[in-house]
Amino acid sequence: MVPLMLGLWLENKKLRLRDDLATPEPPPAEALIRVSVAGICNTDLELTRGYYPYAGVPGHEFVGRVEAAPGAESWEGRRVVGEINAACGGCEACAQDRRTHCERRTVLGIAARNGAFAEHLVLPLANLHAVPDHLPDDLATFTEPLAAALEIQEQISLGPEDRVLVIGDGKLGNLVAQTLALTGCRLLAVGRHQSKLELLRARGIRTGSPAEVTAGRADIVVECTGNSEGFELARRALRPRGTLVLKSTYAGDTRINLASIVVDEITILGSRCGPFAKALDLLTRGEVDVRPLIHARYPLREGLAAFEYAARPGVMKVLIES
Ligand SMILES: [Zn+2]
Ligand SMILES: [Zn+2]
Repeated sequence: MVPLMLGLWLENKKLRLRDDLATPEPPPAEALIRVSVAGICNTDLELTRGYYPYAGVPGHEFVGRVEAAPGAESWEGRRVVGEINAACGGCEACAQDRRTHCERRTVLGIAARNGAFAEHLVLPLANLHAVPDHLPDDLATFTEPLAAALEIQEQISLGPEDRVLVIGDGKLGNLVAQTLALTGCRLLAVGRHQSKLELLRARGIRTGSPAEVTAGRADIVVECTGNSEGFELARRALRPRGTLVLKSTYAGDTRINLASIVVDEITILGSRCGPFAKALDLLTRGEVDVRPLIHARYPLREGLAAFEYAARPGVMKVLIES
């Protein structure tokens, strides 16, 4: 008989708690991981709203311990975080080292691969990163979203002369602003919530309200709200030949005036998954502060309540412990 496990299950935009999920068996070159802590991301909330038609266990931000790694026993017992895109290794994208864009990829808790809101998950050994001993589980859970924030710096180079605007003071905007601040660029982060902006001010980051944004001055704008107002503001704030970085994945379509993008020769840059090793390094050295972002924690058994709480306005990171 297959051993069963507890987990959240998403199907037809409906989330439910199940105690009859089969504990996964690691295929060759993959590891079985006992999940310790997993974070609820906006992408998870958007999945429940139909951003992508996924059926399975959601959750892609996690830390856990390797329970079995057939053929790679040195991993067993190690505390790990894991990159979420599982690549095939054989397609053109993989051959050209664009593994996060593998044509046959599965994505942890997002596409064709059960995720982290369960007692166990499986992930390729190639995706795993060992967590330094003194980095607590809570902080390690932020490796994935922090890596996503760092992806911007993999895509464009930023210097002290660059005027950079971050729009949105939620979880993602916070991590984006904290990581961009480390480049020494001329940074302004705007949002609507004083308590959230205060977290950034405490890190020495200049903040403001959307109304304070000067039109046509920013070299780079990073849009982290995922709503059309945020996009409008981003567009207005950019100077001609500026770069608009889009970080949010969300359900629905946004209306944009493409002619103005042409006239102003705007570069639009989509930005998604990023470098785990660098993210772990920043967390380990304490160069970003994620602790104040944790607003609540729930046991896996109360995972539905965790999702409800995470969807409330003003709530930042909610952790699920399994
Ligand atoms: Zn996420
Ligand atoms: Zn591939």
